[in-house]
Order: sequence, then structure tokens, then C-alpha cells
Amino acid sequence: MQLRYNYRVYPTSGQRASLARAFGCARVVFNDGLRARQAARENNLPYVSDGELSKQVITEAKKTPERAWLGEVSSVVLQQALADLNVAYRNFFASISGKRKGRRVAPPRFRSRKDNRQAIRFTRNSRFAVLDDGRLRLPKVGDVEVRWSRSLPSEPSSVTIVKDAAGRYFASFVVTTTEDETLPPVESEVGIDLGLTHFAVLSDGTKVAAPKFLRRAARKLRRLQKSLARKAKGSHNRTKAVVKVAKAHARVADSRRDWQHKLSTRIVRDNQAVYVEDLCVVGLGRTRLAKSVYDAGWAQFMQMLEYKAALYGRTFGRVDRFFPSTRMCSDCGRINDKIVLNVRTWDCPCGSHHDRDVNAAINILAAGRAGRLNDRGVHVRPASVPAARDEAVIHPDAACSTRSVEGISVL
Ligand SMILES: [Zn+2]
Repeated sequence: MQLRYNYRVYPTSGQRASLARAFGCARVVFNDGLRARQAARENNLPYVSDGELSKQVITEAKKTPERAWLGEVSSVVLQQALADLNVAYRNFFASISGKRKGRRVAPPRFRSRKDNRQAIRFTRNSRFAVLDDGRLRLPKVGDVEVRWSRSLPSEPSSVTIVKDAAGRYFASFVVTTTEDETLPPVESEVGIDLGLTHFAVLSDGTKVAAPKFLRRAARKLRRLQKSLARKAKGSHNRTKAVVKVAKAHARVADSRRDWQHKLSTRIVRDNQAVYVEDLCVVGLGRTRLAKSVYDAGWAQFMQMLEYKAALYGRTFGRVDRFFPSTRMCSDCGRINDKIVLNVRTWDCPCGSHHDRDVNAAINILAAGRAGRLNDRGVHVRPASVPAARDEAVIHPDAACSTRSVEGISVL
């Protein structure tokens, strides 16, 4: 299976300039390609094929004075930008034709220099290389310093260089692991409920709260955001505040990711099967606020559970929550009256006393097991974690995860 390994990189000022140029060229090629397809459509011409588009906006464009500078960056970077566009189109077509499940995927959009995340991708045939001295050689950029927080398990097939809103640079390698990392089987299986009062509630009764340092960081971030909102548009102070917010945001995201890695590894290691409710479905039934609070954090956490389950030979399943798991008694199956949000425990006429969230988690576990047996109500996905999916312009999960929710997307 394919996994992604991320490292912080520290380009010199010269390398930063080269990277800025490469980001710009990739963006231009992407936008030119999008414009060409849009124009063809408006003129009732057939869809411009991938090969034709590449010829038009890369090969031929380089010969014109307006686009001659495209030659200054690695051509692989330009081809990969078009590959992103092609994937975005395919996702869009699959979505409108109904081949693709889930909410509608939007058509590709133009990229902007103001986008929070700038990225370019080098594949193996661009001849990027990890040098003996630990630096990363990028064609037409140079040998960039990398902080190797852990070692790469094998030869990477591609590397994406990302610049985030806080101005930091990262190298994200795609590595195919061939090693068998399957863990010895265990008895227990677990259902996980999205708690509002807790980050996660497990069917065995464990309640996992978001750690204090994260909540504190979240409060600080909110304060910074409020202060940013008060700054006048276009002012110098606003620019400074934007950087401050971006930096705080990056710090929160980093510590949240670390914490989620530890938690997801533990859950997958301790259980043979992990069932969670499908976020897309949950979103429908809950308030906007509730959704935004846990969405960003949860989408990432579920991805971790999913790929780790695949990696370690465990079962992972998303349970469609069309049944009222919160108010269904996990002992007798009776569906009780609606329970208001602040009621944490309730009693079923059958005599069972339930903790609201633990009861829901038990129901999710039961639905997950039942779904695996009779293939209903749950899609238990075997190991399929396409590592490259972050790269596509439109994330397959973009429809159900509000990744762009700023502000309270912290827990
Ligand atoms: Zn009952």
C-alpha cells in the first residue's frame, strides 16, 4: 500500500525563489488548461484530451514569448499540474454521472497565487533524489535541507513540495510499503461515537477528551482570529495579524496531528475491527456549529484509522447512520423518544441505564458487525488508501469534510 511521509524542509532564499517560480508556473499551466477546456465547452467543441491539452499548454506554449519562461522549471512539475487538473475533471464527471458516491464534486476551479497552500509535485522520472548528505535534490531548484524526523522505509515514487499559509515548506513523499506489517490478531472490536463533549467515545466505555494543550491553543487561536477581524483591510497591522494567525493555526494543526497519530495507532493496535459513523451522514443530523467543531479533526482522524487498519491488517468500516444510534437502546433495540443534547444519560423502559455516547458507540459497533456479515448499512472498506489523493485538486472527501472551516476547527 502507499503511504505518505511528511518532513519539514528548509530551502535557502535562492531556492525559495526557484520554488516560487515553480509554484507560479504550475499554477499557470493548470489555469491555462482549465481555460482551454472551458473555452472548448463554450464553443461546443469536444473535450480536450489529456494529451492534446499537454501539447497545447506546455509544449506549444513554451515556444511563445508569453510562456517561454515555463522552460525555467522542471517539465515534470508542469505535467503533474495538468495531471491534477485531469483528476479533478474525472472526479467531477464521475460525480455528475452518478458513478461517484457521496455529495456532488464541484468542477475544477482556477488556482490563485493567494491560495493558502502552494504545491508542486516531482515524480521519479524528474530524477529528484535524496542525497547521501541527507539533502533533497530537486531539479531546477537545488539541494534542499530536510529535517528527517523519521526515516523513509523505501524509495519514494514522488515528492510534493508544499508551502503552507504560515510560510513553511514541507516535502511529502509517497512510499509504497511492501513489508508485511500485519499485527497478530486480537479478539476485541470497537465502535466509536463522535462525542460533542468528548473527542471520541468508544463502545468499551472509554471516553477520550481532547487534551488540555489543544483546547488552550484553540482558545488562543480564536483570540487571534478575533483580533484579526478588527484590523482594517489592507493595513500593515492586518498583514502582520494574518501571519500570526497562520502560525498559530499551523502549531495547533501539528500538535493535533501528533496526538491523533498516537490515539489512532493505539485504537487500531488494540482492536481487530474499528467502526465509525460516516461523517457525511452525521453532518446532516447535527447543527452547523457542532459539525464544524469536530469535522476537521474527525476527518483527519478517520483517515488515520483507515490507513492504519489497512496497514496493520485490521478491519475498518464506516457505518451509515440512518438509524438513530443515540436513542436506540443497545440492550433491547427499542427506539426511545428524542433525547435533547444536554441529557447525558437516560433510562430505557427495559430497565437499562445508558450513557448517551457509550450507548451510541455500542450501536455503531453492532451495526458495523452486522454490516460486515450481511453487507448492509456499512461499507467495510478493505485496504485501499490511495496516497495520492491529497494531490488532486478536489479531494475525494472534500464534499463531506469542511477542511476550510477556520476558527473552531481545532478539536
Ligand atoms: Zn432497552
